[in-house]
This record gives sequence, structure tokens and C-alpha cells, in this order.
Amino acid sequence: MSTIEHWINGAATAGASSRTAPVFNPATGAPSTRVRLAGPSDVDAAVAAAAHAFESWSETSLSQRIKVMFAFRELLVRHEDELARIISAEHGKVVDDARGEIVRGREVVEYVCGLGDILKGSFSDQVSTGVDVHNFRQPLGVCAGITPFNFPAMVPLWMHPVAIATGNTFVLKPSERDPSAANLVARLYQEAGLPDGVFNVVHGDKTAVDAILDHSGIAAVSFVGSTPIATYVHERGTAHGKRVQALGGAKNHAVVMPDADLDFAARHLIAAAYGSAGERCMAISVAVAVGSAADPLVEILERKARAIKVGPGDDPTSEMGPLVTAAAQERVTGAVASGAAQGATVVVDGRGLKVEGHEDGFFVGPSLLDRVTTGMDAYREEIFGPVLAVVRVGTVDEAIALINANPYGNGTAVFTSDGGTARHFQRKVTVGMIGVNVPVPVPMSYYSFGGWKDSLIGDSPVHGPEGIRFYTRAKVVTTRWPHQERQTAAGFSFPTSD
Ligand code: NAD
Repeated sequence: MSTIEHWINGAATAGASSRTAPVFNPATGAPSTRVRLAGPSDVDAAVAAAAHAFESWSETSLSQRIKVMFAFRELLVRHEDELARIISAEHGKVVDDARGEIVRGREVVEYVCGLGDILKGSFSDQVSTGVDVHNFRQPLGVCAGITPFNFPAMVPLWMHPVAIATGNTFVLKPSERDPSAANLVARLYQEAGLPDGVFNVVHGDKTAVDAILDHSGIAAVSFVGSTPIATYVHERGTAHGKRVQALGGAKNHAVVMPDADLDFAARHLIAAAYGSAGERCMAISVAVAVGSAADPLVEILERKARAIKVGPGDDPTSEMGPLVTAAAQERVTGAVASGAAQGATVVVDGRGLKVEGHEDGFFVGPSLLDRVTTGMDAYREEIFGPVLAVVRVGTVDEAIALINANPYGNGTAVFTSDGGTARHFQRKVTVGMIGVNVPVPVPMSYYSFGGWKDSLIGDSPVHGPEGIRFYTRAKVVTTRWPHQERQTAAGFSFPTSD
């Protein structure tokens, strides 16, 4: 069985730690390879390489850095198929869906290809007699990214292109469940002309994460994953003086109004709930049916959920693949069971689904629960699987109150044909990313991505303007050239303009 190595200073390396973990093919349920699990000395080696590379990379001109990003972008296009297949084989998602995440991640590279414009500072002429003020932003140093299993290419791409283009160097600790995509990305960066040591990959688990959080050579940590770990990373990282952005879990609601086109809404809800087997932080896991929308909506959802073709990710006819691990499979079937036990109606039951030829794969079929209430575990917990819960309410304000009482606030959507309802919804709901007849409102790369409440610990969304701000810090310079102006006296009182 092959071993996935770390990537430090431009080369694959086994590192010092002898620990490894198996990586599974979720469609067969069998281990396909294993991955190194770094110890503190491996993290040390990556940080040392990144710190050394920072000395020259941070002095490399903006034009040169952008040129590397253009080349990297082209290589991501050329290697899209290879990368998508690697993701599908370890994550389980269908290949076309994996392509989608590469495209959305690549858009962040495209965004930073325009960094020349984005990074322009401002200049104020003659703020006092003979005095001008300008500002500019500089990189932080070595930055680290700790990422989840569900988007092994896209989520890291939310981070490293922005960090690197702005002059930082980077250590990525990807999920140990699907680690191979990170190594291909490292090779593409190298081929694009990125100097060795600017982008490094350290594979591992909690041991590696803790070593990153405690490391005095790391200036900033970007984290995306579940809320408990996001909270932990934020607390421990900031306690060690680092800048930390930490995106957490989600429970995303889509409100369906009686005036919505119900067939359109159901079609989009099905894709948003069951695409990638529900393993998306922006997946819709709760449909809030308002008034008379409920009965016809559930009827259409049932029909469409039953028609979904579940199979291995590399079968082009599959619409939905397996879950990532046996533990995830168990958690999801348990959520359906608990919904049933606590009084929900199981309209479609995905438990016990067997995919021919893949009987040991981590499959769970699309599941639809109706008449779910907010006290049920199936409502309160992030299931992170192909389970759509329907909650019935009487009015849009009840729907908004329900969403606002939920601790998560990542994404939400409203399906309606009424502009006034949509406007009211977007103004009142306490959620960071909102769709109007758009179920998965992932912002484009030139906006920032981040939720509210327990979906974002701290106050720093990723990519877009917030990403640039996160990976840089500002200087403001006040300038006077006395020989060009009349002499001014140096006073002892606090300077005011004159
Ligand atoms: P996770 O929190 O288990 O793992 C995320 C990262 O943290 C991984 O790199 C993992 O190795 C590390 N980690 C795990 N346990 C740790 C521990 N005890 N101490 C230190 N580090 C630890 O998340 P996951 O299961 O990989 O991903 C799914 C979760 O991520 C879901 O909750 C999902 O909503 C969330 N997610 C959120 C967003 C967002 O944008 N808000 C995006 C994608 C995924």
C-alpha cells in the first residue's frame, strides 16, 4: 500500500513521525492507501522552510507573484480531471461535483490575479501644509491552513492563493480523510514557478493541529471545520498570539413560501440537500414549509428523492456517492432513526440502501423526514449527510424566528415569487449568506465567504476583501519633505494640521 507523504520545501518527505492513518475508498469501504501523521518536529520542519522562503517571497515583486498565480490557474485547468478523480476516490463525491469544487476554488486564484488593483492603497495630498499621508499593506509571515474533508481542493483554495499572492508563505494541514489533493496542488504550484518552501503540506491529525496552534513561527491560522474544533482552534491559536479565522458547522434552512414555484423549489432543494451526499457546509438540511406549501412540497420532494441514482463517485451515471467514512454512515442512519423515534414521519428512508457491487461502501440513500420539530435531535444536530428535514410553520415571520433561534447561521434561502417577502427575509434573518430562489448561495470569490453565530468563530470570513485583510496588515505613513516647503517649527504639543 502506498503512503501519502508530506510536502516540505518543494519535495515529498516522510518526516520524522512514524504514525500513519488509513485512507479509505468510500465506495468500496476498503482502505486504498495510508497517510503520514505529522509530529511536532515535522510541523517545525515545514515552518522552518516557510520562514526561510518568506524572506525572499515577501520581497518578490507583485508582478512576479501574480505571474505565478496566472500560471497556477492554467495548471488547475489542465489538471482538473486528474484532481477531480483524486477527490472522488478519497471523498466519495461524484466526479462532476468534484470538478465543481475545483472551479469554485480556481475562482479565488482568478480573484488574486487582479491583486494589483485590489491591493492599491490610498493617498491623501496636503493633509497639513507640506504633509501627505498614504497607506499600504504587508504580508504577515508564515500562515497555516487547517481544512475539513468535505472540500479537499476548494476550502484550501479559499486560503492559500490569497495568503501567497499577498506575499506570505503557507503550511497546509489538510484533512487526513482525503489528503491526496493537497499534494497534487503542491506539485502544480511548483510547476507554476512558486519557489520551494512557499507552499508546504503537513498531513496529520490533532497532534499536527496542536503543533501549528502552539508554534511561535506561525503568524496566522485559517481553519474550516466543525464548530467545536473551530472554537478550540480559535481559543488556542489566539491564546498564542496568532490571528485566527475559524469557520464552523452549519444547519441551513430553506423557506418555501406558498407563492413559490413549488416544482422549481423542490428541484433545487433536492440538489442542495442530497448533492455531495449532504456533506456540504452550505447544504440545505431543513426545508421550512410555510402554510399551504407543505403538502404539495413534500409530495414532490418524495418523488424526486426516490429517483436519485446513488452509486460510486466514478460512475458517470451516479448523482450521489457514498459518505466519507463508516462513522459518518453510522451517524447519519442514527439521525434518521432518532427522527423516527422522536415523532418525525420518515417519508423516504435511505437506511439499508445497498449499491450492487459496492455492498461494503459507506452508502446511505436520500432520506426525507416530515413534521420535524425544533426539539428533535434530527433538527438540532448537524447531520452532515443526505437527510432533509421538513419543518412546517404558519407564516414567514415564524420561519424567520425559527432560523434566528438556531445557533448556526451559515447559509439560508427563501423560495418566493414576492419581492417584498424576499426583502423582508434578507433584512431580518441572522445568517451570513442568503439566497433568494438560490438554495446554495456560495458567494463569488470577490465577495467574502462566512456565516454568522456558531458558523464563524471570531470575525473574519475567507477570500474576497476580508481574505486580503486577514493575510495582510496595514501601515499608514505620514510624510513631510521640509526642504520643499516653508520651515515649520517642531512644537511640543500634540501635532495638529496647519
Ligand atoms: P472537523 O472539525 O472534524 O475537522 C476539520 C480539521 O480539524 C481537520 O483537518 C482535522 O484533522 C482537524 N481536527 C479534527 N479533530 C480535531 C481535534 N480534536 N483537535 C484538533 N484538530 C482536529 O471537520 P470535518 O469532519 O473534516 O468537516 C466537516 C465539518 O466542517 C462540518 O461541520 C461542516 O459544516 C464544516 N465545514 C464548514 C465550512 C464553512 O465554510 N463554514 C466549510 C466546510 C466544512
